[in-house]
Amino acid sequence: MAASVEKSALHVPSLEEFCQVLRDGLKSNFAEVQVSVVDCPDLTQAPYTFAAAGLCGNPRIADVGGVPYLVPLPQTDKIYNLLNIAEEVELPNAFILGAGAASFKAVGVNAEVVEVRSCRRTGPSNFVTCMREALGKHFGAKPVGVGGTFLIQKGKAKIHVMPDFSSCPLNSDEDVNNWLKFFDMNSPLICQSVFVSRDLGFDLRLEHTHCFSHHGEGGHYHYDTTPDTVEYLGYFLPAEYLYRIDRPMKT
Ligand code: ZN
Repeated sequence: MAASVEKSALHVPSLEEFCQVLRDGLKSNFAEVQVSVVDCPDLTQAPYTFAAAGLCGNPRIADVGGVPYLVPLPQTDKIYNLLNIAEEVELPNAFILGAGAASFKAVGVNAEVVEVRSCRRTGPSNFVTCMREALGKHFGAKPVGVGGTFLIQKGKAKIHVMPDFSSCPLNSDEDVNNWLKFFDMNSPLICQSVFVSRDLGFDLRLEHTHCFSHHGEGGHYHYDTTPDTVEYLGYFLPAEYLYRIDRPMKT
């Protein structure tokens, strides 16, 4: 089965401009913000324990499938092989990180990324939404796509996990939320995240973050539940291309 693949170039700002936009955006939502260009830490080491050392090379975003394949009833034949996905984004054997339905790909050699530290949330947006909206506001029609990883070093976060597939149709957001299991999970949580500043007419998921930990907790990140004490540390990079693979026809 060959899935459909649509490809679009993304706007890649300079790292300086990228830093400035994230800094300004995060300052509206966090008490303490530091954004700088640094050498990426070795992501194969604890606490990350990823399969590749760094974020760089040919950063590309792949948005694969979508929620319409899950609701109202799951299409259990929708199984994607990451090796095939790597070939479809024209980077065979790429290191893939991300959140299931949306993956960020990068070739693993150490390089500069942008380091983001944010502490004590003062606004309503979560860490990722805040950065995504700042990029959207600044770059407007020019789409910017970002992938990377962040740690929730202190505090707790609202996370969902999916139980077994629902046997009854999920016809509304309320049905979905009743089916999902929500938890307040403890830091440190290691998150992998991808976000785009605007849709390109591909019915994209604008942000998606999954996390795991070394204490058995993990899932889909919604927001921190401890704004006064939360601390985020992230490494992000703007991507060059976006690939929409097997876009659902009905949404
Ligand atoms: Zn998810």
